Amino acid sequence: MKKKNLIFVGAPGSGKGTISGMLLKEVTLAHISTGDILRDEIKRGTPLGVQASEIMKSGGLVSDDIVVGMVRERLAKDDCKNGFILDGFPRTVNQAELLGKVLADLGMELDAVIFFNVPDQVLLERLTSRLTCKACGAVFNKLSMKPQVEGVCDKCQGELIQRADDSLETATNRLKVFYAQTQAVIDYYRASGKMIELNNLTSEQSMDVLKKELF
Ligand SMILES: [Zn+2]
Repeated sequence: MKKKNLIFVGAPGSGKGTISGMLLKEVTLAHISTGDILRDEIKRGTPLGVQASEIMKSGGLVSDDIVVGMVRERLAKDDCKNGFILDGFPRTVNQAELLGKVLADLGMELDAVIFFNVPDQVLLERLTSRLTCKACGAVFNKLSMKPQVEGVCDKCQGELIQRADDSLETATNRLKVFYAQTQAVIDYYRASGKMIELNNLTSEQSMDVLKKELF
C-alpha cells in the first residue's frame, strides 16, 4: 500500500467524515483532527495544552501558531510515517502556509488535497434532515431513516420535530461560516495543482475516485 499524505476539506454535511471513515478501514493512515489533538493536549496538560486551555477559558480563539504547533507535534509521531489524513485542517490560508513550512521542515510532502464539493442545496437538505421525537428523543432522518408514518415516532407515537440545531437558519449559518473561512484555502490548494475535487459524488463513487487516483 502506498503511503499518502492527504488533506480533506469539506463543508458540514459534505460526507467528508463518512469517506474518511470508509477509507481508513481499507488503508493505514494516521487520522488527524485538530479538535482531537487540542482535547488530547489539554487532557495531558502539555505546555501547548495549558496555553490553549487558558485562552479558551477566557473566551479567546487559539492562535494559528498554537494550532500549527500541535499539528507539527502530531505529524512528527511514528504513525504519520505511513501517511496521514489531515481532517478539516487547515482552515485559513495563514494556517495553510504555516503547515507548508512544517511539512518542509519534517521532510514531508503533501500528495493531495481532497475537496468534497457538494452544492449548498444538497448540504442544506442533509443538514436539516434530522427529526427528533419530542417525547422519547429517538432520532430519525428525512433522507436516510424515515419514520413509518410521517411526523410520528415509530417507537412511542410521539410527535417528531426539527430541533433548532437542525433548522434551516442554523444550517445556512454553518455553511456561511465555513465558506467565509475556508473558500480561500480551497482556492489556495486548487492553485497548487494538488487538489482532487469530488463533485457531489455518492460515497461509493468517491471511494472509487480516491482509490484510482491515489492507491
Ligand atoms: Zn418517540
